[in-house]
Amino acid sequence: HRPPENPAEAAPQPAPAPLAARPIVEARGIHKHFGHLHVLRGVDLVVAERELVFVIGPSGSGKSTLLRCLNRLEEPSAGIITVDGIDMLDRRTDINAARQRIGMVFQSFNLYPHMTALGNVALALRKVQGKPRAEAAERARAALARVDLGDRADHYPGQLSGGQQQRVAIARAIALEPRVMLFDEPTSALDPELVGGVLQAMRELRKDGMTMVVVSHEMAFAKAAADRVVFIADGLIVEQGPPAAIFGSPQHERTRAFIGQIA
Ligand code: ADP
Ligand code: MG
Repeated sequence: HRPPENPAEAAPQPAPAPLAARPIVEARGIHKHFGHLHVLRGVDLVVAERELVFVIGPSGSGKSTLLRCLNRLEEPSAGIITVDGIDMLDRRTDINAARQRIGMVFQSFNLYPHMTALGNVALALRKVQGKPRAEAAERARAALARVDLGDRADHYPGQLSGGQQQRVAIARAIALEPRVMLFDEPTSALDPELVGGVLQAMRELRKDGMTMVVVSHEMAFAKAAADRVVFIADGLIVEQGPPAAIFGSPQHERTRAFIGQIA
């Protein structure tokens, strides 16, 4: 629900914005320089509660940098970022507390090999949130069940497939009860037959109403699950819209060229 362009068209008593439209992520005018490299050149990304936004674009276009700016793993050179109402760039913000609202899953799962799936998930709860051992274990078990790994809690990463390991990484993130989940090419390192299970876990999260920003080349998943697809090239949003529009009738030559390559 957008406000009318022309205020004169506004209803006399406009209804309050529905809860579903409340922005969880609000990034405005984001620039990022690495030395002389101008990687993000004024990106605006606003993600509503429960929205699943898919970010696509050529390699090197700034997708990972954008995600990393959202939780301040990278410091933007300019711009404004709020997540769940918290100003991520304010020096007074407790960034470690703020980051607990943002779950992140990368291409590499980075599990501790000497700890079980349950141990890996529970560790985050104990270290990051200071949960007592028993509560951490209980919550870790619930998180593993949510990614359909309830029966693998006592397995070590080496005993799990890559797809199962990535689902443990997702469980580790959601166990902290974030307000938004960021996924950076979560299936890119996986053998094709293992991709489906990870996408299924993401679908379940979406069903539960998780707000998600996903960088991925899984176009079938985008078509089926995304509310919005954002196409980035050279550090700028070139085009965005519902998946049917972006994939079916892209307006910009660069979008057409990119989609032609990956289709
Ligand atoms: P994408 O995820 O879309 O492939 P990235 O955000 O990873 O793109 O990278 C965008 C550009 O920024 C690339 O040219 C990359 O080499 C550069 N870059 C990313 N991280 C750094 C860094 N820490 N230092 C210098 N250059 C970087
Ligand atoms: Mg990347």
